[in-house]
Amino acid sequence: MKSMIVLCLSFLTLQAYEYHLKPVELAKDVYCFFGAPENISKENGGNMVNTCFVKTKEGFVVIDSGPTFGYAKQVYAQMQEIAKLPVKFVITTHDHDDHWLGNSFYKSKGALLMGPKTYEQNVVPGMSTRMEESLGKEIYAGTQVVKLDSVVEQKYDLTLGDTVFEIKQLVDQAHTKGDLVVYLPQKKVLFAGDLVFNNRLSSLRDGSIIGSLKALDLIDSFQADVIVGGHGYATDANATQSFKRYLVEMKKQILEALDEDVSIDEITKRVVMPEYKDTNLYDVLHRRNVFDAYTELEMYDGDEE
Ligand SMILES: [Zn+2]
Repeated sequence: MKSMIVLCLSFLTLQAYEYHLKPVELAKDVYCFFGAPENISKENGGNMVNTCFVKTKEGFVVIDSGPTFGYAKQVYAQMQEIAKLPVKFVITTHDHDDHWLGNSFYKSKGALLMGPKTYEQNVVPGMSTRMEESLGKEIYAGTQVVKLDSVVEQKYDLTLGDTVFEIKQLVDQAHTKGDLVVYLPQKKVLFAGDLVFNNRLSSLRDGSIIGSLKALDLIDSFQADVIVGGHGYATDANATQSFKRYLVEMKKQILEALDEDVSIDEITKRVVMPEYKDTNLYDVLHRRNVFDAYTELEMYDGDEE
């Protein structure tokens, strides 16, 4: 009897985390899953990121594989309900782990993994990840770190079943030093990765405020009908605007403070931007963003633009 109870309990703990994923169709054959605009937690199972897939005649293309093996497996089950087609390619937008820890699942299904050079440089099989530390063994079960099959240096046009995917790095450094966007010219849909955030603040820790603003202008120049960011729910043609306003205001206030010789010790008290206090992750990220932007703008010569 006792061993039965132990057996039942261990079976329960091995039950996979249930993500309750439902795809949203944003354009014909283009689907996304929207994560919560929150930080990583055991409660959300790392589902705080947006991932998408595109159906073509010859198979699926996935844009960002999400936070765990289990998440990718549940996404795949949803895809197979739409069409019994293989996943041919997975494109990773950048090297932050919430966007690619599902890659090992798709690799096991025979997909080719593509991504930026920073993934090649920074992602090493066997490495421990932020997601693993935050989620613990059960939710992370089965997740492995795997290498890419193909690195996109600056630009690569992929065609699958008549659907064209333009994969591009727009600037040298924006959210990270390797951010890919994926544009579908036939559908006017742009997957922006973490160059676009909504409903929460972004982090500048690996990025550049100047580069981020340049990237946002370039994204707008595509004149896409649908723009999907790495986090947040807005996907219309104006999806870039709220993040752009935040960065423009921060840049302006920091440059003014630099003119007045405000020191780095004082800057986070000066650039509070209280209108963003109710935005998700303000408490976690804003002060650090100001600090990072100050460090960058201190060296910045406006004529370089
Ligand atoms: Zn992200």
